[in-house]
Amino acid sequence: MPEKTMLAAVFEGEGRLEIREVPTPALNTPQDVLLKVEICGICGTDLRFLAVPPLMQAKKGIILGHEYIGQVVEVGSEVRQFQPGDRVAVIPDIPCGYCQFCAEARPNLCENMYAIGGDVDGGFAHYALAPAKALAKISHDLPVEAGAFVELLSCVLGGVQKAALLPGEDVVIIGAGPAGLVYLKVFKAAGAGQVIMVEVSPWRSEFAYRAGADLVINPRETNLRDAVRTATGRGAHVVVDAVGSELGAAISTARKGGRIIMFGENHQAEAVIHPHQIQGQELRILGSFIGIQVFPQAIRMLESGAVKLDDLITHRLSLAELPGGIAELAAGRGAKGVCLPWL
Ligand SMILES: [Zn+2]
Ligand SMILES: [Zn+2]
Repeated sequence: MPEKTMLAAVFEGEGRLEIREVPTPALNTPQDVLLKVEICGICGTDLRFLAVPPLMQAKKGIILGHEYIGQVVEVGSEVRQFQPGDRVAVIPDIPCGYCQFCAEARPNLCENMYAIGGDVDGGFAHYALAPAKALAKISHDLPVEAGAFVELLSCVLGGVQKAALLPGEDVVIIGAGPAGLVYLKVFKAAGAGQVIMVEVSPWRSEFAYRAGADLVINPRETNLRDAVRTATGRGAHVVVDAVGSELGAAISTARKGGRIIMFGENHQAEAVIHPHQIQGQELRILGSFIGIQVFPQAIRMLESGAVKLDDLITHRLSLAELPGGIAELAAGRGAKGVCLPWL
């Protein structure tokens, strides 16, 4: 059995993440599962929670971290599908199951959704509690660092499904952060033609080339529309805005009839667009939030090696190193960061 206290990263508001001893969680309900956390990815969402002023709201006093996997330590009396020793990934956005959108089989749009690591305690800790319905079994053979990508990959797959890419089609991805890089790897694995990334940071541009991008364009130095036309002829079949504020740029790089996936989350952004471009070019603009039943596919892809994502990790941090590492990532000096709480 675990010790009575453990180390955890607690959100204290105003950009403060405090590493301290807290009580080890105990089962609260018969559906709870206690997990020993193996690894927890650092998400753009965590950076937005910790920005000052915050770009997204997390509840003060909770343990952050939602991209985690772990070993089952203890299960509540009504849990049938898991037992101690199982290895699981956490599906952190939990729908209610009974609202109108849940009833319409769109649980990602649930009106009563709550998030592990945003509304309730998450995985930047030695141990974490999660309801059994928020867990999916993973193989004991999956490398630990690949496990840190299950949640991010599942979110990306939500957008990839909407993009409906055909082999050979060209793709533009705006933003070479962790999500943009995962899109790059997935579209390459799915047989995309050219995958062009758009990025202003020199560090991230260089990293994107090493991760397999065919071309990286800095829109501050080059006319983006022209550069994409030069590379592709008519523009990209699929454009992903992995930043969340680049709808105008996305429209300018899409080919006639192209599909634009709005993936990045920015609650402040506004866009100036020319509606005629959408109408006259028959563009399809598709918002994408998490995804529907995408976890099994994400787990299968990582277990089979269909995509290899662990080489996107640039920061491996203990809990004590987490606040400093998050600051570096927020400054754009890194790709994917992970927390290994037992380091
Ligand atoms: Zn995330
Ligand atoms: Zn619901």
